[in-house]
Amino acid sequence: MVDFEIPTEQWAQVIEQTGTTTYKKIPVRQPGPDEVLINIKYSGVCHTDLHALNGDWPLERKTPVIGGHEGAGVVVAKGEYVTDIELGDYAGIKWLHSSCLACSFCIQSLEPLCDHAQLSGYTVDGSFQQYAVAKAAHVARIPKQCDLAAVAPILCAGLTVYKGLKVSGVQPGGSVAIVGAGGGLGNLAIQYAKAMGMNPIAIDGGADKGQACMDLGASTYIDFTTSRNIVADVKAATSEGRGPHAVLLLAASDRPFQQAIQYVRSNGTIVCIGMPAGGNYQVPVFDAVVRCINVKGSYVGNRQDTAEAIDFFVQGSVKAPFKVAKLEELQSVFDMMKANKIVGRYVLKVSD
Ligand code: NAD
Ligand code: ZN
Ligand code: ZN
Repeated sequence: MVDFEIPTEQWAQVIEQTGTTTYKKIPVRQPGPDEVLINIKYSGVCHTDLHALNGDWPLERKTPVIGGHEGAGVVVAKGEYVTDIELGDYAGIKWLHSSCLACSFCIQSLEPLCDHAQLSGYTVDGSFQQYAVAKAAHVARIPKQCDLAAVAPILCAGLTVYKGLKVSGVQPGGSVAIVGAGGGLGNLAIQYAKAMGMNPIAIDGGADKGQACMDLGASTYIDFTTSRNIVADVKAATSEGRGPHAVLLLAASDRPFQQAIQYVRSNGTIVCIGMPAGGNYQVPVFDAVVRCINVKGSYVGNRQDTAEAIDFFVQGSVKAPFKVAKLEELQSVFDMMKANKIVGRYVLKVSD
């Protein structure tokens, strides 16, 4: 077994009050009996981290808290009950830190719905720190050949969009509109949709995001900042002009929710994933009934979905571009994200 030298202090980004994150030194914790200690090498920055920073959601957050839930690194210590992970293995921190594994949701593999779920970077400390404690049962298993920077965004963005596409029910050959396609979840959604045999129609704002979406394999790009009629443009991009079989709503804005109901194909499905602050959507009952429209929410995924999402990455069918920043630069990444200026994902380099 490899022995790792673990320092007593480390660098972290800590939210001590809503709206600001502080780069500071904090103690390194020891793992409990069912936990592992992961030396985080890279951590993606998800828009959820920005919602957490700003207190956007009606869900209580721990304070102070260390954000981050796309953390990829190396297991450097483990508790006595952990038998299926070795020191030196690659492992990943995802949004679902733990669940009870025994309730009626957990036993059906609906772990994100567990009443006792703990959330990384929200109700427990996450991956914007060099040494993060995680529950062994829930950490993502990352094969050794993976590039840890590139795999980090799969741990939330990849998993979430893969699951969303699965529950959309779109068959190979069918089309899916991806709203927010130029962002972190969106770029990966284009690639998972392609890999799953679907035709992705990308919607976002700006020419640079358009270029990225087309490079990743979108069949059409619709710019919501310049389109005069999004509903008509989306329908025109689909077979018979009937609209896409599904819509993946990934924007942190609720305006596109109202448009999706108008352009989704009859008998189609709208999958709600983005969670704008105070977001609401209204569905005209008449349309929903006579056009048989399904509206559903999709919330990360379970451990099996995680393994499948990572498999696509390992096979090379999902490979979205990302930019790297330093852990200390988190605030500037948040500033760009707030202004919708990030194409794809930023990944923080957390440890050497
Ligand atoms: P991001 O900021 O990287 O991307 C969002 C994209 O939406 C941006 O490119 C932005 O330009 C685009 N956008 C904004 N308004 C738009 C509009 N009107 N039409 C089309 N595009 C628009 O964010 P992200 O990290 O991809 O996360 C997106 C959302 O998904 C966040 O609300 C996040 O909290 C949520 N999320 C949900 C889950 C889940 O399990 N349901 C998991 C992860 C993230
Ligand atoms: Zn996330
Ligand atoms: Zn449970």
